[in-house]
Amino acid sequence: MRPFAYVRPLDVGDAVRAATATGAKYLGGGTNLVDLIREGIERPETVVDVTGLPLDTVDDLPGGGLRIGALVRNSTLAADRRVGTGYRMLSQALLSGASAQLRNMATVGGNLLQRTRCPYFYDAASACNKREPGRGCDALDGFHRGGAILGVSDSCIATHPSDMCVALAALDAVVEVRGPDATRRVPVTDLHRLPGSTPHVETVLAPGELITAVELPPPVAANSRYRKVRDRASYAFALVSVAAALQVRDGTVTQIRLALGGVAPKPWRCREAERLLAGGPADETAFHHAAEAELSAATVRTGNAFKVALATSTIVAMLRELSQEATLP
Ligand code: SF4
Repeated sequence: MRPFAYVRPLDVGDAVRAATATGAKYLGGGTNLVDLIREGIERPETVVDVTGLPLDTVDDLPGGGLRIGALVRNSTLAADRRVGTGYRMLSQALLSGASAQLRNMATVGGNLLQRTRCPYFYDAASACNKREPGRGCDALDGFHRGGAILGVSDSCIATHPSDMCVALAALDAVVEVRGPDATRRVPVTDLHRLPGSTPHVETVLAPGELITAVELPPPVAANSRYRKVRDRASYAFALVSVAAALQVRDGTVTQIRLALGGVAPKPWRCREAERLLAGGPADETAFHHAAEAELSAATVRTGNAFKVALATSTIVAMLRELSQEATLP
């Protein structure tokens, strides 16, 4: 373990000022960062522990919606009655992630910023452009069963591991960010970057910027659900996950929200599928057509090509179930 400075400010402004130091890292629940430090993947010079900041409440927004403090624990948010009733897909996504012990520690802000679980990223002996820019990517021709198929580049095919983020993307959540000079708001779909030639640059956050909250718009008047497909029933990352909300009136899709996890370097909002479905028939043919159109941009490799069919069939199954439940009289 390399030595580092440790500070625990009790004020957001003090935290942001402390984090402008070279090599500073924010520490929330520590469920990912501590492992990364232990393995030598992250080598902070200063750790800014933010767990003393007053960012741990879920508050009603005027006009509807919720403001979720960045330090709200994943288990607390999943159990919030307002989330369970108005944002069911978010509650389900949170409960499908990690273990109960980890959910008790993990924070909303940390969940947004967790790093990929690509095995080569955690193995210092492997070539990994994300860990060491310009070194290469051993996943391309190695073990990439969990690798991404959408939004990838020749530099990196790692997936974003979060379940929560997939639901937040479908829900049009907005991230509040505090920087040294100003506070700004970033749609969660714009927070994470695609790898391109710089996979080590994972978000649009500037050095020192701190996520302080996530805002949810008023609940959509549609039935919603999150489904995670993985190799074992618990404590595993998604091969494919789907967050979906659907409302049908007289056989026509009147509302649709769709996002994918486990297939891209960021939570993947399915804009093309939504465009094709909105205002059209809510039937099996339309669901297939929309899912196939969304996955038509996939770039696959030998070990992860199965994800195209898996994502397509999971989307169709989810929409079929939701259409049966969401059909209004
Ligand atoms: Fe590294 Fe990305 Fe390649 Fe994995 S896929 S080895 S994270 S560059």
